[in-house]
Amino acid sequence: PLRDSDVVEDYQITVCVRKRPMNKKEVVRKEVDVITVPNKNQIIVHEPKQKVDLTKYLENQHFRFDYAFDETCSNEAVYKFTARPLVQTIFEGGMATCFAYGQTGSGKTHTMGGDFNGKTQDCQKGIYAMTAKDVFRFLKMSQYRQYNLAVSCSFFEIYSGKVFDLLANKAKLRVLEDGKQQVQVVGLQERPVDSVEEVLKLIQLGNAARTSGQTSANSNSSRSHAVFQILLRQTQGRMHGKFSLIDLAGNERGADTSSADRQTRMEGAEINKSLLALKECIRALGRKGAHLPFRASKLTQVLRDSFIGEKSKTCMIAMISPGLSSCEHSLNTLRYADRVK
Ligand code: ADP
Ligand code: MG
Repeated sequence: PLRDSDVVEDYQITVCVRKRPMNKKEVVRKEVDVITVPNKNQIIVHEPKQKVDLTKYLENQHFRFDYAFDETCSNEAVYKFTARPLVQTIFEGGMATCFAYGQTGSGKTHTMGGDFNGKTQDCQKGIYAMTAKDVFRFLKMSQYRQYNLAVSCSFFEIYSGKVFDLLANKAKLRVLEDGKQQVQVVGLQERPVDSVEEVLKLIQLGNAARTSGQTSANSNSSRSHAVFQILLRQTQGRMHGKFSLIDLAGNERGADTSSADRQTRMEGAEINKSLLALKECIRALGRKGAHLPFRASKLTQVLRDSFIGEKSKTCMIAMISPGLSSCEHSLNTLRYADRVK
C-alpha cells in the first residue's frame, strides 16, 4: 500500500513497524497469523480471548505508526521509508540513527544485516549495505563535494554492558567520558572506505565475528546490541556527520530477570535497562530541557552525541512476528514503539 510519495523526509523521529512473513516451521505447525496491516499507518493485533478457542477474539488492539510494513514488503521498500531519508541528514552535518527493535526471530538482523542463505549472510540486501550505497552516491553530488568528505566505518557490539570491536576480533574496549561530556570508545577501529565493496567486506567481517562460536540454542547475538556506523569526516579529521545503524538485543531477553542462571539474569537486567534508557533518550530528541538519561546504559552512553543536537534524526523499526505464539511479545514491542514518539 506504500507509494514513493508517502516518504516523509522531515520527521525528527520516525517510528514504524514491520511484520515478517510466516516461516516454514510456523506454517508446518499451523500457527495462526494474528497480525494484520490494513493500511500504511496501522497495525492490528487480534488477541484470542482464550488460548483454547482461537476463533473467539478479544477486542482487536489497534496501533498507529508513521509506517506499517506488511509481510510482502521487501528490505528495499523498508529502507526507502526509514534509513534512506536520513542519509541527507549526515551530509548536512547531522547525526542519524536507525534502530531495529523486537523479539528474537522477528527479523532485526534480516532487515539490517541481510538474510542468511545457507551459511553466509547476504549482506547486500540489508539496510547497512543500502545505506552505504547511498552514502557513496551522495558523496558525488556537487553540493556536498565542497566539504571534501572522507567515509569510514566502525562496527561494534555491546554485550552485558561491555563493548567489543567486531572489526578487531572482538577486542574489549573501554568507554571514556571527558570533562566536556564527549563520549569516546577507546581504540575502536575506524576503517577508511572508498567504495561500497569495501564496506560490504567490513559488514561481512563484523557479521562473522558477531555470530562466531555460537549455536542457535545459546545465541549471544540475541543478547547483544550491534552498532554499525558510517562516519563522514572532513580532511582535517573533524567529524561532519555520523550514521549509526543498530541491531538491538531481543527485547524478550529483558524479561530474563527471574532466570535461575545468574549470568542470564544480569544480562537480562542490562538489556532491560538499556532499552528503557533508549526509549527515554529518543523521546528527549527535539524536546528542549527533556531528561536525557544517556549514562543509564552503555548503549545510550556511546550514542550520546546522536541524541543531542538539533540536526539529529532517528528512526525505529519495530519488528513483529506474525504468529499467535508471539502475540504477547508482539504487543510488548508495539507498546514500546508506541511510546517512543
Ligand atoms: P532477529 O535478528 O530479530 O532475531 P532474524 O533476522 O534472524 O531475527 O530473522 C529470523 C528468521 O526469519 C531468519 O531466518 C530470517 O531470514 C527470517 N526473516 C525475518 N524477516 C524476514 C522477512 N521479512 N522475509 C523473509 N524472511 C524473514
Ligand atoms: Mg538477530
